[in-house]
Amino acid sequence: MAVVKADGYGHGALQVATAALEAGAGWVGCAHVTEALALRKAGIEAPMLAWLHTHDTPFDDAIAAGIDLGVSGWDLDAIAASAQRLQAPARIHLKVDTGLGRNGSTMADLPGLLQRASEYQEAGLLRVVGIFSHLAVADEPERPETDMQLAVFDEAIALVEAAGFDLEVRHIANTPGILSRPDSHHELVRLGLGLYGLSPFENETPGSFGLRPAMKLVTRVANVKKVPLNQGVSYGLSYHTTAETYLGLIPLGYADGLPRIATGAPVTINGKSYPVRGRIAMDQCVIDLGPDVDPADFLGVEAVIFGEGGQSVNTWAYAANTINYEVVTRISPRVPRYYIQGSWGEAGE
Ligand SMILES: *Cc1c(COP(=O)(O)O)cnc(C)c1O
Repeated sequence: MAVVKADGYGHGALQVATAALEAGAGWVGCAHVTEALALRKAGIEAPMLAWLHTHDTPFDDAIAAGIDLGVSGWDLDAIAASAQRLQAPARIHLKVDTGLGRNGSTMADLPGLLQRASEYQEAGLLRVVGIFSHLAVADEPERPETDMQLAVFDEAIALVEAAGFDLEVRHIANTPGILSRPDSHHELVRLGLGLYGLSPFENETPGSFGLRPAMKLVTRVANVKKVPLNQGVSYGLSYHTTAETYLGLIPLGYADGLPRIATGAPVTINGKSYPVRGRIAMDQCVIDLGPDVDPADFLGVEAVIFGEGGQSVNTWAYAANTINYEVVTRISPRVPRYYIQGSWGEAGE
């Protein structure tokens, strides 16, 4: 299952889903029904699952569009009511909380949920086709909790099967589970971060798994100018130049998704990295190019924030005290996306 929630982790849900399906993925996964509906509308016909609902979730539309629904508890009745209105059965994946403490039915509540699901299924309002759960610490393979979660998941599967449901798929593995726990795979795995070529492990690079980061965030140097010693830089004047130097202006800021906290993170120009100096503003930030440069070598030249030809997403994540997931996901809609189709040489929208 290609997980393309949050606009494909900032990469573009439709483009990623299309590429993943062409490459052999069997399913598409979204958090919200609205995300899945947008993909259906755009022509994605593959099996699709959405698992995070509120009382405003358009279950009628989901059932009509053939979107499978994760069910954690209260949502079962709302979905059954929608199925009744539509006179069409919903396809349900029961979600079990095996230890994450977030969404999903507790093991204590599971028998009751199975009872209700069984009644709805007999009434022709739904079919339970899957059971799933989510891992909490699989990115830290040395921790024991993953073993415990997998054992609880096995218990839950046994309960569901004993209740007479004929499951098509059982799924618990996310990217770290896929990469480090083959025993978690069952019939289906839900691949998010790895799909985008990033590593979920703190000490392992994407390359160590044969992954290549898909996103390159790049702009052009928007201005270069000579400034004197002790020039204050950006809001708050928190940085002052220590000598006469050239400053380069980078036209990306926190409105584009650069974390404001990441002052000091590197911007790479022609293979050399320059730390961001002073505060990152809404639309722009500043790098110190040094005293002995020809402005013509920089003005209008490609400046890589992260990705091919620059530093890794993880470097920016570290500078922002966050994880690579957040850095790519928060790149805002103001930044145009260009997609490289097939070969790495040809760019097009
Ligand atoms: C986001 C998400 C995933 C994908 O996780 P990755 O670590 O990015 O692979 C899988 N399952 C669920 C339920 C999710 O919310």
